[in-house]
Amino acid sequence: AAVIVAIDGPSGTGKSSTSKAVAAKLGLSYLDTGAQYRAITWWMLTNGVDTADAAAVATASAKPAIVSGTDPSAPTITVDGVDASGPIRTQEVTSKVSAVSAVPEVRTRITELQREIAAGAPEGIVVEGRDIGTTVLPDADLKIFLTASPEARAARRSGETKGADVNATKEALIKRDAADSGRKTSPLAKAADAVEVDTTDLTLDQVIECVVTLVEE
Ligand code: C5P
Repeated sequence: AAVIVAIDGPSGTGKSSTSKAVAAKLGLSYLDTGAQYRAITWWMLTNGVDTADAAAVATASAKPAIVSGTDPSAPTITVDGVDASGPIRTQEVTSKVSAVSAVPEVRTRITELQREIAAGAPEGIVVEGRDIGTTVLPDADLKIFLTASPEARAARRSGETKGADVNATKEALIKRDAADSGRKTSPLAKAADAVEVDTTDLTLDQVIECVVTLVEE
């Protein structure tokens, strides 16, 4: 039977690197749900929708076609047929994505896409996000919740975005996590049956090994 693995946690905990590597090692598909929320946010910004206006975001949320490619060695995301993998990583999108993803209509739409993709994965899938174990795929075979100290998370993120100030990165991360944890509809949360892995003092390889072992158990 297909294996479903849910990996949740705040940003900078190594979710993406871990999820891609675990999927590649086990021959599973991979879905980055943050990329989907970033993609819909990017579409709102490029189509003149005020991202602070929840009603406007709700109305527009059905319009863009968001398609995710689930090969863990080369994941892709397109919006209305256009490659969005670059533009979804800009500061502007990062600063607006929490507001857009707090709108219930956006979550309903994206959750539906996620369930379709998971159901269609031939061998199974590793899905990373914030609400996968609690809301999107509550029947997942394995649920992982990754954590790390705010310092470790900020250091990892500013390593990714070259030249970014670590303190500014840390403030932005904490703000985004607070917004993601505080929203009413499917907030960032650890499922009751998730295994929590604190990655603060672990190397990426150690985290990958840990998750692979848990899947194989
Ligand atoms: O994982 P990433 O940092 O790319 O996620 C971007 C944003 O997308 C998060 O800060 C959150 O607002 C939203 N998100 C979400 N639910 C998910 C995944 C991401 O609300 N399952």
